Amino acid sequence: MNGDPGTMSCAEFQAQMADRIGSGEDIAAHPHLKNCANCRALLADLKTIADAARQLFPAVEPPDQLWENIELAIQREDESASKTR
Ligand SMILES: [Zn+2]
Repeated sequence: MNGDPGTMSCAEFQAQMADRIGSGEDIAAHPHLKNCANCRALLADLKTIADAARQLFPAVEPPDQLWENIELAIQREDESASKTR
């Protein structure tokens, strides 16, 4: 938690992203996204996943567990991406 949200790192932003979305915040308005194409692309992927989840479970709000699973999937993706480099 150090300072201006517009200058936070991608790791910091991504660590908070699922929680912020889960709490109903309009994450697309986050200042980090204005400066960071990587995280905009990541958010677009998340929205695709969330839309798919909503189609699978149309009657319920995405549970916290879903966002945790998405967060874990992102972390695994990061790890495998750095290994294959
Ligand atoms: Zn970023």
